[in-house]
Amino acid sequence: MKLFNTLTRRKEEFVPLEEGKVRMYVCGPTVYNLIHIGNARPMIIFDTVRRYMEYKGYEVNFVSNFTDVDDKIIKKAIEEGVSAQEISERYISECRKDMDGMNVKPATTNPQATQEIGGMISMIQTLVDKGYAYPAADGTVYFRVKKFKEYGKLSHKNLDDLQSGFRSLQVSGEDQKEDPLDFVLWKPKKEGEPSWPSPWCDGRPGWHIECSVMAKKYLGDEIDIHAGGEDLIFPHHENEIAQSECCNDKIFAKYWMHNAFLNIDNRKMSKSLGNFRTVREISEQYDLQVLRFFMLNAHYRSPLNFSADLMEAAKNALERITDAAANLKDRKAAAQTEAATDAEKELLAQSQEFVKKFEEAMDDDFNTADALAAIFELVKFANTNVSEESSSEFAGVLLDTMVKLCDVLGLKAEKKEEILDKEIEDLIAERQEARKAKNFARADEIRDELLAKGIILKDTREGVKWKRA
Ligand SMILES: [Zn+2]
Repeated sequence: MKLFNTLTRRKEEFVPLEEGKVRMYVCGPTVYNLIHIGNARPMIIFDTVRRYMEYKGYEVNFVSNFTDVDDKIIKKAIEEGVSAQEISERYISECRKDMDGMNVKPATTNPQATQEIGGMISMIQTLVDKGYAYPAADGTVYFRVKKFKEYGKLSHKNLDDLQSGFRSLQVSGEDQKEDPLDFVLWKPKKEGEPSWPSPWCDGRPGWHIECSVMAKKYLGDEIDIHAGGEDLIFPHHENEIAQSECCNDKIFAKYWMHNAFLNIDNRKMSKSLGNFRTVREISEQYDLQVLRFFMLNAHYRSPLNFSADLMEAAKNALERITDAAANLKDRKAAAQTEAATDAEKELLAQSQEFVKKFEEAMDDDFNTADALAAIFELVKFANTNVSEESSSEFAGVLLDTMVKLCDVLGLKAEKKEEILDKEIEDLIAERQEARKAKNFARADEIRDELLAKGIILKDTREGVKWKRA
């Protein structure tokens, strides 16, 4: 299995630190709002990496954090007049719902920054003791970047270039830093902000230190894969390397994986353009499996453009798989004969070619687009070769293969009977119209149809309410 390592800028053979095991850390979201589709991309990509590693027989310890103390969370809390904790808890819970919809497996551990403050203070103390960090007069603790000779090795920036880039910023008042390159490990509290006591001042951690600490605590000083969006390479991941390697005297992560950007209608997602699309919005229109398919249909290191047309295309393509799987299921159930004939056995042996192609694609730096192409070849093969005369074994083995390969990508080949919120609302509106028109037969029919899909209606004074059974 080869993967592209940002550190070496090459595709490298994956060799785990410990045989049969993978220690993997993925930077998670800052929880101050519903997640957008830019957040969803690394979640889906690295969940797929994990699933493929598991398919290959590795035991994967997958850690992904929630950043639950941050300026944006505090700002939102002040706007709403609630605590920062209330904001972060709300959006962690909403994020988990979206992840579930996208079929992202729960991490082995999802640490939260606010629960790990002790570890952060202890790592900062070690860095201070070793001379890699220093407290300023107001209690802010900075990392002494120039002391770490390898700084810049991930982003392939050299210290001199960084230095000249920073010189123009030096006038901005951060004069208590020894050097403009130094970054914050701990900062003093401001009025109304969450804070914790520390040897330097009451305050809160900088963002970078949390990942170094959580990775160390849950995975150890050395990990196999550290991953995230490419916007995190500098400074976040560069700073994580500096903190961890200076604290632990070990190489922090062997492989660094980064996914490329996601654009919307060929434009960057940005606040000023107002073109943020949340996963929740998408879920009102599509099963989130479609979003997952859409993301996997491109290589993770290529920029991806989101558009309505491409989502429609993804929906149709995914349906070709689910239709084929449904057909195989029917054929298996209705088959006249049990065991596969010799001719069918020959065909089953041939179909292994698609599994091989799938694995070759995934082994080549997780080329999910080619892996999907292999699944479509299997779909075509099944559609061509399975008929009413097929044995249940033949249809069954093809179905199992299809389901298994899709599962590696986190796609459910067997269609969920689930009904979307929007369809429910539409049916309820239609039922109201029918009742107004005194067409009670149709109104009852809709109620029964919804009930069959597990939706319970309740007529209340404030209108029709519904819930899932
Ligand atoms: Zn991180």
